Amino acid sequence: MKIETNRAACEGHGLCEQTAPDIYALDEQGYVYVRVPEIPPGLEASAEAGARVCPVAALQVRR
Ligand code: SF4
Repeated sequence: MKIETNRAACEGHGLCEQTAPDIYALDEQGYVYVRVPEIPPGLEASAEAGARVCPVAALQVRR
């Protein structure tokens, strides 16, 4: 499972990072990046939850 990010859409509010800090972080410019290239099985639910809370749908789950 991977997460695709649309950094052009990201508004940097950080809800994804608050929900799943093991997966998402904000860079020095305040935009999202994914910490791991492939989501480990134990963190899939957390990654999905973080993607769901994004208010601008900038995070897409790919399986
Ligand atoms: S929740 Fe969405 S808009 Fe907010 S930082 Fe994360 S990806 Fe960006």
